[in-house]
Amino acid sequence: MNRSALFARDGYRCVYCGEVQDEEHLSVDHVQPRMRGGDGSQGNLVTACRGCNTRKAGRSLADFLAEEPETRRNFFTLARYVWPRHLRSVAEELARRGAVASPAELVEGVRGLRSSEAIADVVQIHDRVAPEKGSEGE
Ligand SMILES: [Zn+2]
Repeated sequence: MNRSALFARDGYRCVYCGEVQDEEHLSVDHVQPRMRGGDGSQGNLVTACRGCNTRKAGRSLADFLAEEPETRRNFFTLARYVWPRHLRSVAEELARRGAVASPAELVEGVRGLRSSEAIADVVQIHDRVAPEKGSEGE
């Protein structure tokens, strides 16, 4: 998938900060790094603005998302084209790092899910980065 097609697919919006940018301020980021076997297929590529890509630097995606709750929320809201297996492994890494409120439930919840949207939804449910609108129960 070439850069322009990728940016168009993502609406020229950075998956990390959620900002829409001109093409010259955007870059291609690999979910699974090339050095760890990640390929150039559409489900391994996301649009990232240069600022976020620079801030991410050498960190793995899981480290980056574990350390930045706001970025994590944006990513799981916006990165809906990422292959389910990649999203699931990022979710499991976040749970292992204790980055989410209920790690065990998260790992259990994403097990066997085959849709990226479903996986992202489960992550959002078990992540408590923002106050929930309309709390349930009580
Ligand atoms: Zn950004």
